[in-house]
Amino acid sequence: MKLNYREFFMQKMVILLKPEDVEMSAKDFLSTYASYMESVGIVGKGPTGYANYPSRTAPIHKENVQFFEEWVELTHALGINGVIGMDLYTDAWFAKDPKYQCMTSSGQTMEHQICPNSHDFWEYSSEIIKELGSYPIDEILLFGTGFIRDYFCFCERCRKEFAPLVDQEPSRLTYQYIIENPEYHDKWHKWRSDKVHEGLVMLQAAAREIDEQTEREDPLRLSVEVLLDPETGLSEGAKNEYGYDYAKLGEITGNVLINLFPWSPLLPQKGTSDYTELVESLYFTNEFTRRGGRASLFRWGVTTMDQVQELKQLARDAGIERIVTTFNYPADYSRRREAAIGNY
Ligand SMILES: [Zn+2]
Repeated sequence: MKLNYREFFMQKMVILLKPEDVEMSAKDFLSTYASYMESVGIVGKGPTGYANYPSRTAPIHKENVQFFEEWVELTHALGINGVIGMDLYTDAWFAKDPKYQCMTSSGQTMEHQICPNSHDFWEYSSEIIKELGSYPIDEILLFGTGFIRDYFCFCERCRKEFAPLVDQEPSRLTYQYIIENPEYHDKWHKWRSDKVHEGLVMLQAAAREIDEQTEREDPLRLSVEVLLDPETGLSEGAKNEYGYDYAKLGEITGNVLINLFPWSPLLPQKGTSDYTELVESLYFTNEFTRRGGRASLFRWGVTTMDQVQELKQLARDAGIERIVTTFNYPADYSRRREAAIGNY
């Protein structure tokens, strides 16, 4: 599809592009469109797990390196707010190692998503934050920051750590066993949420470390993606499903990126009760703004002006200032959707 980029950039939203989206050099693209941009995003590490910059930590998409570096340098020189996309637990390269894959209670492994209970992976990701933060950028959007669903994770490490908390043998721990006892289920939610936020604390510390090393004037922002979908009970349901704690998120990074309806194709129409419910479900974001942080509305695959206007309307109604979009859905979208809303 041929998109009229100018029309999109004029909407004052942040568009997160992949180097592959831009069919010309960074210099040519930016000299054509920079005057319409206040802020623009480029993917630093996407769900393939490969970095678009010369990482010393992650494997590299060599063909994107020159583009990426030129892009970052130029946006900075032109005074455009620079945003970088980074997939966290959605990392297919790292997830090749079975030791880190998410697993269902019946032993089915997810070869595209890392179990958030992985100290080694937090360290790995902290290095990537520092590498990205050594470029003159303003913000990193962290994608894939929670568990796949409430029925994850039953990898060996999670079993071993969680089973003793509910008087069970690691090998005999099942999702059924946990949900049959409300007290166990509460413990499960709390334990998983603690893991998610422990990881984020480490990433935020890495961001502060690179701030000092680079003597940044404004601290590097980490905006954390949270999924908000009717399939998983909007913002309330998402806490237990994915392991989010909005108050902690506010304290740790202060910035949240709400991925609207990742598993459902259509947003509700204004005027319907579903729409009102969605707006109410976004009220928690006021707390981020009140504390000096930021909440943004995010959507994958926004390619028409109608979609843009729909998002802007919702943002206005929910008191959210910024919209972030991509032109495409992630390449592994169908697999992710299946893992999140399929039957396990
Ligand atoms: Zn696990």
